[in-house]
Amino acid sequence: MALQLLRTVEQAAQFAERLRLEHKRLALVPTMGSLHQGHLALVHEGRRRADLVVVSIFVNPTQFGPREDFSRYPRNLQADLAECEAAGAHAVFAPEPVEMYPPGYQTFVEVAEVSKGLCGARRPGHFRGVATVVAKLLALFRPQVAIFGEKDFQQLQVIRQLNRDLNLGARIVGVPTVRETDGLAMSSRNVYLSPAERRRALSLSTGLLEAQRLVRDGRTDARELVAVLRSALAQAEVREDYVEVVDAQTLERLETVHSTRPARILVAAFVGNTRLIDNAPLNPDGRAEDGQAEE
Ligand code: AMP
Repeated sequence: MALQLLRTVEQAAQFAERLRLEHKRLALVPTMGSLHQGHLALVHEGRRRADLVVVSIFVNPTQFGPREDFSRYPRNLQADLAECEAAGAHAVFAPEPVEMYPPGYQTFVEVAEVSKGLCGARRPGHFRGVATVVAKLLALFRPQVAIFGEKDFQQLQVIRQLNRDLNLGARIVGVPTVRETDGLAMSSRNVYLSPAERRRALSLSTGLLEAQRLVRDGRTDARELVAVLRSALAQAEVREDYVEVVDAQTLERLETVHSTRPARILVAAFVGNTRLIDNAPLNPDGRAEDGQAEE
């Protein structure tokens, strides 16, 4: 089946309605485009879990702050369509902003607690924009499965919560972060990095690895884990936005890592003007492939 391009909400609704009548299972993969191997891993996971996969490609204006990179965010629809087709997606939903937010639009979704700290504290309104657009996409397509990356770990927990709270009925699946061979987490924003910045950016993933190694060696004090990651950033002259050890489900800050309570270490940092995020599990259960993932 050739890749179908859906440009309007009406076309998307008709596509979803037809699948329901045919009793086909749909997987939704929401993205902002400029697709890389990380996004394509989500498409592959969708193919394993459903009959059809729809990828949404939408640079969502409501999740960008006034001083953030909305206007210069990389956009590459033709290349993205080819990638989606090659990965075996069945449809791409690529609406214009006015389709999603027509004049007079006034409804927003706020996930109160889990949006609070970390990126939520540094990017006011960001998760309100994310929750709103994902709620709209889930309501429009009513997919059986929706696939997200662990790369955006707080976002994944925000979406699990909104899916539960609004009874949107999707199974929310998290996919582990796909990395370049040297460890850098793949991101559409990596194109902003100069070659020298690209090398300095490695301090995020190497610092995470060092923290994981400490835990394997039996260290449990969160301050020590945070410190080792901070020193990796400092050595590379990368400016920390935050470094925190948190409970993998509630995202509450932890002082101590226990083997029985899934924990994650999360980092956000500026390499030059580019803000990057990354995270890693700290104990065997830290992937947070929790019961809620499969509800
Ligand atoms: P974005 O286009 O950056 O909004 O990302 C769309 C989806 O792809 C989100 O669920 C991200 O978490 C996921 N994603 C982005 N980068 C990666 C990666 N390196 N590995 C796995 N998933 C990713």
